[in-house]
Amino acid sequence: MNIIVLVKQVPNTTKVKFNPKTGNLIREGLESIVNPDDLHALEAAILIKEETGAKVIAVSMGPPQAVDALTQAIGMGADKGILLCDMAFAGADTWATSLTLSRAIEKIGYYSLIICGHQAIDGDTAQIGPQVADWLGIAQATYVKEIEQVTPGESGESGEIIVKRRLDNEVERLACQLPALLTVIKKVNQPRYAHMERLITSCSDKAPIVVWNAADIGVNTCDVGLEGSNTHVIKTFTPNFKRQNEILRGSKEEVVNQLFSRLKNSDTTMAGKL
Ligand SMILES: Cc1cc2nc3c(=O)[nH]c(=O)nc-3n(C[C@H](O)[C@H](O)[C@H](O)COP(=O)(O)OP(=O)(O)OC[C@H]3O[C@@H](n4cnc5c(N)ncnc54)[C@H](O)[C@@H]3O)c2cc1C
Repeated sequence: MNIIVLVKQVPNTTKVKFNPKTGNLIREGLESIVNPDDLHALEAAILIKEETGAKVIAVSMGPPQAVDALTQAIGMGADKGILLCDMAFAGADTWATSLTLSRAIEKIGYYSLIICGHQAIDGDTAQIGPQVADWLGIAQATYVKEIEQVTPGESGESGEIIVKRRLDNEVERLACQLPALLTVIKKVNQPRYAHMERLITSCSDKAPIVVWNAADIGVNTCDVGLEGSNTHVIKTFTPNFKRQNEILRGSKEEVVNQLFSRLKNSDTTMAGKL
């Protein structure tokens, strides 16, 4: 049984800043970390590995330094890392990112489960998991808060998984045929620290990490990266909120009357706008 974990390297901040001229994320000077949700995805895969003997493969699309995210994944217990790295992948929107990841997964070929984080702290769209499942035509369960049971099938990729999903006001218990994709939330587990000995190996020449480019996964460069993206950022800006305070003065009755008349007026103005 192969479990693929999608791991994204992100800037260590939730306060993402953009270059107002280019609309691109300002990454300079920011420390990079493994996207927090993805540590939970890795932990989930490693727990299943410990129970079933599955093989865990971590896959990341990113610049050369994203290899550090794979090193950490192997340090935690993943068996192999695949870095999807090519200038042609740069500037991808979620469509192009999920296509690239899906083609790499198809190249891996054999898998029962794909586990991703629910959301990346920089892009923040939570679209990649569902899109990858759609490209691959497999079942998906999002917002997974508990993996209750994994029953690997007798032959290759078959089997079943039972999970609990966190919905707004309830929890949904779901049985899903494998292969399937899960997106997990932080509640699913407590990620372990990387093991020192494994970290040393994963940082050495013997690290089980391979790098694939566009040709390796058989995609046309016009279908990935900025060129293959269906959405383009036209403008990015930080909204400028200004509070306008006004103090109403007078007796209690006068203040209430003033307030009432202003609310009435603003209501008419709003109604006019509608
Ligand atoms: C219109 C648009 C334009 C963009 N342009 C650019 C750009 O020019 N340059 C740029 O750097 N970014 C750009 N991005 C951001 C880039 O598309 C996203 O970072 C990427 O598609 C992943 O989306 P996300 O971060 O929202 O991930 P989410 O969907 O929030 O992530 C969910 C999970 O998917 C997995 N995942 C996500 N991304 C990866 C990855 N790369 N490798 C492995 N696993 C992954 C992880 O498990 C993660 O927890 C753009 C995004 C949009 C919407």
